[in-house]
Amino acid sequence: MKISQQILDLVPYQPGKPISEAQREYNLSKVVKLASNENPMGTSPKVLEAIEKTLREIHRYPDPSCFSLLEELSSSWKIPKTHLAIGNGSNEVIDLLIRIYCAPNQAILLSQASFVAYEVCAQAARVEQIKVPMKADLHPDIEAFKKILRDSKRSENIQIIFLPNPNNPTGVLIPQQEIVDFVEEFGKDDRRLIVFDEAYHEFVRDPKYRSAVELMSKSKQVIVLRTMSKAYGLAGLRIGVLIADPSIIDLFNRVRNPFNVNELAQAAGVAALRDKKFVQDVVAMTHRGLDKTYDYLSSLKLPFIESQGNFVMFDTLRDSRQVNEALLRQGVILRPVRNYGFNSHLRMSIGLPEENEAALKALAAVLKEIPLTKK
Ligand SMILES: *Cc1c(COP(=O)(O)O)cnc(C)c1O
Repeated sequence: MKISQQILDLVPYQPGKPISEAQREYNLSKVVKLASNENPMGTSPKVLEAIEKTLREIHRYPDPSCFSLLEELSSSWKIPKTHLAIGNGSNEVIDLLIRIYCAPNQAILLSQASFVAYEVCAQAARVEQIKVPMKADLHPDIEAFKKILRDSKRSENIQIIFLPNPNNPTGVLIPQQEIVDFVEEFGKDDRRLIVFDEAYHEFVRDPKYRSAVELMSKSKQVIVLRTMSKAYGLAGLRIGVLIADPSIIDLFNRVRNPFNVNELAQAAGVAALRDKKFVQDVVAMTHRGLDKTYDYLSSLKLPFIESQGNFVMFDTLRDSRQVNEALLRQGVILRPVRNYGFNSHLRMSIGLPEENEAALKALAAVLKEIPLTKK
């Protein structure tokens, strides 16, 4: 049977190594996993209660309209319900946006080093990916995006522009003025969508940051993605939120599976949105953890970029594969970012204080054994 080359070229998603796998492979009793930007405080007890209450309902189909969850999202985030839809994680939202708006051989525009889901979903839909190299300071090169978009030949197939803000794995923000100017120039063009992925919105500390939700009144082409996988601690239940013009919400709701968000997830989502204290505590702990981690990385003389997410990418100044392997032997799982083009960097999620400390101590120990790479 003939199968398209784009499908054959897909590689299964490489998640952060699961704890059980590391334990088996390296014969470890205790493992610290700071590889997937998961919530180290777990899930709010109020969420667990809501799930327990819903457990006896799982023989029923879930509510296909996600009525209660949409109500709660709308009131918590102050966004009209008409502008909201929910996916099975933002991953599904990304997948469906590409399927809805891109035909095979059309294209998406994205940075070289941004979330892999854009790329994988595009490839699976036989959609081309036009990748813009990062600037030397590892910020997204918005000027280069603009150059491509102004060139009618190079941009004719581009249907969606993906701008994660803050970015993963680098943790940096796009400067607010650049976003405003970008939407000013390209938001009037109804041939393509501008998607701001704000998965780490809750963690941003930079006072200059503004959610792109504010720009939606200026352009119907602007879409914002949020997730309940990070600050809300629901990565395992899969809730991604699409914030967009009602015409986009309408198409999304036609294409998605009717039962894409299960009943336990819907109940958990409502409870998680109501427990504002839990999210505040998570964010405060993350900020303390980031600051301590910066101090520690500085004392090890390892360059890093200050992050607006719940993770930090740093330069080991060595072959990151060797450092990663040595850390695994010590029971510490961090995330190599070679797939994003960073050969000496690792990304560390911010965990509980004792997890951060254990990881950084192990890092200090293994660095002594591994030679510096010449630049
Ligand atoms: C973690 C992350 C998400 C969340 O994906 P889900 O499918 O909602 O779990 C989305 N975008 C970026 C950039 C991320 O890092």
